[in-house]
Amino acid sequence: MRVVGIEGTAWCASAAVFDTERDRVRIESDAYEPESGGIHPREAAEHMREAIPAVIETALEDAEGPIDAVAFARGPGIGPCLRIVGSAARALAQGLDVPLVGVNHMVAHLEIGRHRSGFESPVCLNASGANAHVLGYHNGRYRVLGETMDTGVGNALDKFTRHVGWSHPGGPKVEDHAKRGEYVPFPYVVKGMDFSFSGIMSAAKDAYDDGTPVEDVCRGLEETVFGMLTEVAERALSLTGRDELVLGGGVGQNARLRGMLAAMCEQRGAGFYAPEPRFLRDNAGMIAVLGAKMYRAGDTLDVAESAIDPDYRPDEVAVTWRDDAED
Ligand code: ATP
Repeated sequence: MRVVGIEGTAWCASAAVFDTERDRVRIESDAYEPESGGIHPREAAEHMREAIPAVIETALEDAEGPIDAVAFARGPGIGPCLRIVGSAARALAQGLDVPLVGVNHMVAHLEIGRHRSGFESPVCLNASGANAHVLGYHNGRYRVLGETMDTGVGNALDKFTRHVGWSHPGGPKVEDHAKRGEYVPFPYVVKGMDFSFSGIMSAAKDAYDDGTPVEDVCRGLEETVFGMLTEVAERALSLTGRDELVLGGGVGQNARLRGMLAAMCEQRGAGFYAPEPRFLRDNAGMIAVLGAKMYRAGDTLDVAESAIDPDYRPDEVAVTWRDDAED
């Protein structure tokens, strides 16, 4: 079976073909890079409109056989970007005369880790640009066990780096500078199973403005923010009794975060899996892989009911594709 995935929730126009027999995922992406500041929704949508046809065409050229279904990221994300992706997916599905599958982008970040690791029922930490949450499966849904009370974790780091004058995305620059920095403390904000980043970012901006070397601020930010994520991930493992953790999202490309999570899992005797970078940042491969599972489960959409949803939460998705979906 071959399934096309189309992703375009924010900055990454991407198409992929997942060949289930070979477990081969071919991804074609074209990233929007703002000239200044962060992601501007209108500019991101213009990029999406220009880039989506080309990435789809290239991905299809590489497909070695007929396509069985078209999957697309329905949300969450930036409305004008999602609308372009939705229109492209509907047109492609109708043109190829194959079913349409609507995928939740955050569940796809989780499922790609589950698929690649072979873990049965892991807890998932999604550390992405616009989101930060810990998910665990129970009774047919991925439940949000803990989440950010304000901004996404990547967006928080990007806000600090904009303040410093660095170009978007800021996360990789924080990682690079932190390697040369000394730890400085920042407010550590975990409440129950939830976390907050906005106060930490204000403190980081103040520290930088007061003359703390930027390398030290970056180091302090990493230790604090990733320590918080690791604490909540550990508590989720403990509360659910699960012994497998997968990481999802673009911030997962950070080696310090992966190192903390790996150390925590090792201490608990739990398995840990972080997908390779091309599957962590936004990509259509994860949409195609989850799309194939949903298609196989008969979880397809009529075009008339295929509206996008910018606020589509992972716990709204009725999970149809897992062997234990009825549990
Ligand atoms: P979402 O998936 O929630 O819609 P998103 O579309 O912004 O979020 P992702 O591709 O998952 O995108 O993540 C992008 C974020 O990852 C950016 O905020 C970027 O700064 C951050 N990031 C990328 N590389 C690193 C890194 N090495 N260290 C920390 N953060 C990073």
